[in-house]
Amino acid sequence: ATPTALMVGTGRGAQLGILIKGPEVLESTRRVDAVVLDKTGTITAGKMTLVDVIVADGEDTGEVLRLAGALEDSSEHPIAQAIAKGARDKVGELPAVEQFANLAGLGVQGTVDDHAVLVGRTRLLADFSQHLPTELDDAMKAAEAEGRTAVAVGWDGAARAVLVVADTVKSTSAEAITQLRDLGLTPIMLTGDNTAAATTIAGQVGIDEVIAEVLPTEKVDVVKRLQDQGKVVAMVGDGINDAAALAQADLGLAMGTGTDVAIEASDLTLVRGDLRAAADAIRLSRRTLGTIK
Ligand code: ADP
Ligand code: MG
Repeated sequence: ATPTALMVGTGRGAQLGILIKGPEVLESTRRVDAVVLDKTGTITAGKMTLVDVIVADGEDTGEVLRLAGALEDSSEHPIAQAIAKGARDKVGELPAVEQFANLAGLGVQGTVDDHAVLVGRTRLLADFSQHLPTELDDAMKAAEAEGRTAVAVGWDGAARAVLVVADTVKSTSAEAITQLRDLGLTPIMLTGDNTAAATTIAGQVGIDEVIAEVLPTEKVDVVKRLQDQGKVVAMVGDGINDAAALAQADLGLAMGTGTDVAIEASDLTLVRGDLRAAADAIRLSRRTLGTIK
């Protein structure tokens, strides 16, 4: 394409709410055939709220919220913020935390009121030999089957509660997926969340392929694997944990509502955080390059 055509394309992108890093980006956009989409914050709003607290026999809901809320108050994760806010709304001021550690893709750990507290995936609690009693395990699975995210809480050697957070699917996501398919692209959901929740959300927006329970460090490997299979991969994400995968993808698209790290790692920014702009970007590059060449 001529430099003029690329400039016009870049300008048209800006009007559509698509910021393009350089004119050469339009070239890679055009050849894309698979679109990998992060779930939380990309397909969903990423604004979670605490909707349920299920405690094991003999445990106190207020105590669970105090300890888990205090710990999550130190984390930036959308799940953590929902739990800290929900806890504060119910029990008031939260105690201080010592020796806080964030275990990416798994949960958080720290000392609160002299208790060694964990909040996160069952896999994290299992690493500390804390296993969920059957009724909590059932409650967790039921919440996940509804597309919600459930995390476990444990301290001093025992799993004690399950916290359920809910997110909402953006109203524009389903239409965006339809548009991407109409452009001949295969949408694939990639998430660290559990398989049941991920599959339910995928079904709501029309995605058939789901890769779930992926650690943040593994997201980039999934993109590489698809490229090894000969696919030209676009990746759409918003989080710190998406940055490496966004950089690895043939085309990285960041949500403008996401983190700076994701935006810096990407070729394109969808300013309004509307997934339909991803389809607009592909359409624009095909039009800009296809007609001029
Ligand atoms: P996503 O790809 O959906 O953005 P992450 O990789 O950030 O997900 O997290 C994957 C999973 O790890 C979450 O669904 C949750 O179970 C657990 N997790 C991560 N961070 C936290 C946290 N701060 N508190 C509780 N659980 C967490
Ligand atoms: Mg995300």
